[in-house]
Amino acid sequence: MEINSIVKDPTPHFTHETIKCGICRTELQRGASIYQEGLSFGIVCEKCYKNNSSDDLELMANLFLAYGGYFGMKKRSEFSLYKEIKKLTAKIQPGKTPDSLISLNIKMLHRAVLYGVTPQEVILGLKILIEE
Ligand SMILES: [Zn+2]
Repeated sequence: MEINSIVKDPTPHFTHETIKCGICRTELQRGASIYQEGLSFGIVCEKCYKNNSSDDLELMANLFLAYGGYFGMKKRSEFSLYKEIKKLTAKIQPGKTPDSLISLNIKMLHRAVLYGVTPQEVILGLKILIEE
C-alpha cells in the first residue's frame, strides 16, 4: 500500500472532536504531523508512521479491525515473545495438526501489537529465538 498523502497542514482536520492515531490511538495535537494511510484506518501519528512500514501499518490496522484493541494498549514490559510461543504451541497436541499455523501466528502477532511490540520486532525476536 502506498502512502496516499502526507498532510502538511492538518489544521482543517481538527474540528470539535479530537483526532486519534488509527494505530496507537494517541490524541493528535493541533499542528502535529499526521499521515493519511489508505482509507481503511484513517490517520497515523508520526511515531507509528516512522516505526512501521506501510505494509505493517496496514497489517496492524486489519488486526485491530478483526480482533479489537490498539497498538500499545497493554504494558510492553509484560510481554514475552518466548512465553507467547510457549502458550500457543501448548495448544498443539502431539500427533494432531494444529487448526492452522497461520491462525496461531496471527493470534501471536495480534497479542504482540497490543503490547506495543511492532511486527518487525516480532520477526527479530523470532529470529533470535530460533538461533538460540
Ligand atoms: Zn500512533
